[in-house]
Amino acid sequence: MHPRRPPFRGVLNAEEDLMTTIKASCPICGDVSLTPPQVRLVVCTRPEWSYYAFGCPTCQDEVSKDADEEIVALLVSGGVELEHWVIPAEAMEEHNGEPITYDELLDFALLLEDQDLLAQQLRSLNHR
Ligand SMILES: [Zn+2]
Repeated sequence: MHPRRPPFRGVLNAEEDLMTTIKASCPICGDVSLTPPQVRLVVCTRPEWSYYAFGCPTCQDEVSKDADEEIVALLVSGGVELEHWVIPAEAMEEHNGEPITYDELLDFALLLEDQDLLAQQLRSLNHR
């Protein structure tokens, strides 16, 4: 779903016309060259959620990838405009307790009347 290939080669070349070329890589086409306006850079208050995205000039696919600090710095220095994405503080609160278990999920499904099918599917998942 989210291929963990090296997302960004980090090569910025100043062209003679002063337009910076950003080298990125498309999962389908491989390396592509972009100009800063083609790249959308979103920096989140949770650094691990920061990403950059671009429309691949070759296959037109929308590509988005994680942007760590280094990539953010590189893109910004290349002239990409940075967008801030603020996560509300409530969403950052820690949640205590164990993640929901299969059994709890099954109990929940059984509580819902006429949800036998769902319960069956959950059972078959568990017995795979
Ligand atoms: Zn592509």
